[in-house]
Amino acid sequence: MSDLNNMVNVVLPSHIMSRIPQLQPGQVALVGAGPGDPGLLTLNALMLIQQADVLVCDRLVSDEIAALKPAKAELINAGKSCKEHVLTQDQTNQVLVDQAKLGKRVVRLKGGDPYIFGRGGEEVEVLMDNQIESIIVPGITAASGCSAYAGFPLTHRDYAQSVTLATGHIKHDGKLELDWKALASNDRTVVFYMGLNNAQLISDNLQAQGRGGDTPVGLIERGTTLQQRTVFTTLSELPQAIKDNGLKPPTMMIVGEVVSIAAKNAKKAAQNAEQSNEQNTLAQA
Ligand code: SAH
Repeated sequence: MSDLNNMVNVVLPSHIMSRIPQLQPGQVALVGAGPGDPGLLTLNALMLIQQADVLVCDRLVSDEIAALKPAKAELINAGKSCKEHVLTQDQTNQVLVDQAKLGKRVVRLKGGDPYIFGRGGEEVEVLMDNQIESIIVPGITAASGCSAYAGFPLTHRDYAQSVTLATGHIKHDGKLELDWKALASNDRTVVFYMGLNNAQLISDNLQAQGRGGDTPVGLIERGTTLQQRTVFTTLSELPQAIKDNGLKPPTMMIVGEVVSIAAKNAKKAAQNAEQSNEQNTLAQA
């Protein structure tokens, strides 16, 4: 740690500081907090959190990130599964409006990116309808964070020419309407957010449209946090792998050949480590 302190000078030059958004009373900043590792916050996110009078947090935002708020700032948990405050989306919208109208500097902190399955679009609309100004700060979405920390890229010239971010969440009508034929194409990586409960349906539909049962799948639970768990499986074994490992939300499900790169790179890294050990032993002899 002391090495890092010697190497990194965190005082930002004024031309960068002058571009950090300044939150005015009565404004709301919708801020992406990234997938969990506090190091994946953006500069703008960190500096907006520190300007907050009120921090309205998602259930996906970790305590250590919420703790970056000023000591006097109020913390409101808007998370669905949060025990203290169980707010519906309408109630959360109302909290944002009410706090802004009280003249507070409001930071709405969301897991990942606010505009990717984060209902950020809906919240901005409500704020606009109430003549409240907002600032949007994008965040690292769980797909990017989880793939990187699990050891494979989302695209690769030899494996995947496109990547699709899809919801695995069923709407109230009980259907998961996705273009399964398109998602089943072999040169594509498909990332399912909120897919855990519908793994069987996802596995069946992709295979029915021709995606091989042996297609690699990466399951990343609480990706980028200290509690990250990674399970590698295949499309046909996906539902069983979830059960066997007792995976719980938030878990990212990534389907495609790119997933196999993790094992290949791990093997290479082990070989490199072995080689450098041998070289060290020779040098010492
Ligand atoms: N706005 C968020 C996504 C919210 S939807 C973003 O851009 O990342 C919630 C879903 O995202 C979860 O059900 C899970 O599938 C995924 N997710 C979010 N954070 C995650 C994490 N740290 N690890 C694994 N999956 C995560």
